[in-house]
Amino acid sequence: MAAQLLDGKVMSDALRAEIAEKVAALKAKGVTPGLAVILVGEDPASQIYVRNKGIGCEQTGMHSVTIRMPEETTQQELEDQIRALNEDPAIHGILVQLPLPKHLDEAAALAVIVPEKDVDGFHVQNAGKLLNGLNGVVACTPKGALEMIRRTGVNLSGKEAVVVGRSNIVGKPMGVLLLQENCTVTICHSRTADLAAHTRRADVLVAAVGKAKFITADMVKPGAIVIDVGINRVDGKVVGDVDFDNVKEVAGWITPVPGGVGRMTITMLLQNTLEAAERTLA
Ligand code: NDP
Repeated sequence: MAAQLLDGKVMSDALRAEIAEKVAALKAKGVTPGLAVILVGEDPASQIYVRNKGIGCEQTGMHSVTIRMPEETTQQELEDQIRALNEDPAIHGILVQLPLPKHLDEAAALAVIVPEKDVDGFHVQNAGKLLNGLNGVVACTPKGALEMIRRTGVNLSGKEAVVVGRSNIVGKPMGVLLLQENCTVTICHSRTADLAAHTRRADVLVAAVGKAKFITADMVKPGAIVIDVGINRVDGKVVGDVDFDNVKEVAGWITPVPGGVGRMTITMLLQNTLEAAERTLA
């Protein structure tokens, strides 16, 4: 294997230990950071994510509650639940697990969360702050991915960064974060002509597409930092958007799936919740 592994578990363990120390310090001042996760319906993948978030809270000494609502929950019921959490002083972070059942309006529900408790960083106010270079809550997945990129030690200034995917929760904020690091950023999507011509120029390549093994070795510049955000289920196994076995022979650094960005995403959620709790004392 030519590439160095960017191990999300190792990085997360170190970061979670630091978070646990800060949680203990905050508790000594009478504030226990609290995260509320709302889970509507029975989506199996969501159940796993929510469980892992609860485990992360336990590990770091935070308070966590999971509010399970039935599949047939109405928009009004969901929004009333969010409003109740907005008012709850024991809760510093509110997360609505996505995707919601089809009949519910995700954007409308997310807009009800007060921006200070929006630990997912999906509220338009937080997305707008990121775009304007202001302090706000940064979405967990791109924040975690950037942390992994930074840990390569590579000076990012002037580097070519290519993000494949332009979703509001991953691709777009990832592009903005890399721009803030003074990379020259290209964001690709399903209408991009000659995708490989773009990816082959990338010193930093982030794949957030949702297609198993979509990024192949011939699409990667030798020595590149390759960050695989994808989570795809193939024959009961979780695989990323990057053809890991072949790309690792070309790349300089690479994240595994599982054990890469997904793990760091939850760690950033814990960090955002801690910071939201710290802000209540400021
Ligand atoms: P979306 O489906 O919202 O976005 C996918 C993006 O990929 C779109 O912008 C789409 O382009 C682009 N795309 C699709 N096909 C192609 C193609 N052939 N060539 C180039 N671009 C293409 O997904 P998300 O951003 O929400 O998630 C992406 C992946 O990351 C998924 O596998 C998801 O499960 C995973 N994920 C992982 C997380 C983690 O914690 N590790 C957190 C969140 C997501 P267009 O806009 O034109 O349709």
